[in-house]
Amino acid sequence: MTEPQITIVGGGVAGLCLAAELAERGVSLRIFDRYGRPAEHGCSWWAGGMLAPFCESEAAEEPVVRLGQEAAGWWQRHNVNVERNGSLVLALSRDGGELDRFARRTDQHEWVDADGCGCLRG
Ligand SMILES: Cc1cc2nc3c(=O)[nH]c(=O)nc-3n(C[C@H](O)[C@H](O)[C@H](O)COP(=O)(O)OP(=O)(O)OC[C@H]3O[C@@H](n4cnc5c(N)ncnc54)[C@H](O)[C@@H]3O)c2cc1C
Repeated sequence: MTEPQITIVGGGVAGLCLAAELAERGVSLRIFDRYGRPAEHGCSWWAGGMLAPFCESEAAEEPVVRLGQEAAGWWQRHNVNVERNGSLVLALSRDGGELDRFARRTDQHEWVDADGCGCLRG
């Protein structure tokens, strides 16, 4: 067995995505994580399932939004089931001003009420 050309430090989503890309290019690599296999110790284990690039535009710069949109395609190409249903942004009625501000700073949104988003009233 040949020696790995590259060692990736960290087996979270960042390290694993990089590993997938490099492996597809034929690079021999190993992943080193101080806690072993991906598990509860990593942020990715708990969070990171939602890709919401249009929401990111509220505060992020253009490359973050553009690359975020491209990322959805990356996951699909790697056989991850990606649902493209938009992102639901919610606020308590007392924070309605925050939603107005969010709407001013983002594109391609539509306003829906509780019925429109399938939320329970209660
Ligand atoms: C509450 C919350 C919600 C989030 N929601 C989303 C979301 O909806 N969508 C989204 O895209 N992102 C979301 N994120 C952000 C996302 O989860 C993180 O950006 C992402 O998981 C980070 O991945 P990572 O691989 O960089 O880090 P990690 O998953 O933390 O992996 C880092 C790995 O490196 C290892 N490591 C660290 N230092 C060393 C070292 N010196 N030597 C060896 N190994 C080391 C660790 O053990 C760990 O396994 C959320 C984050 C939080 C906290």
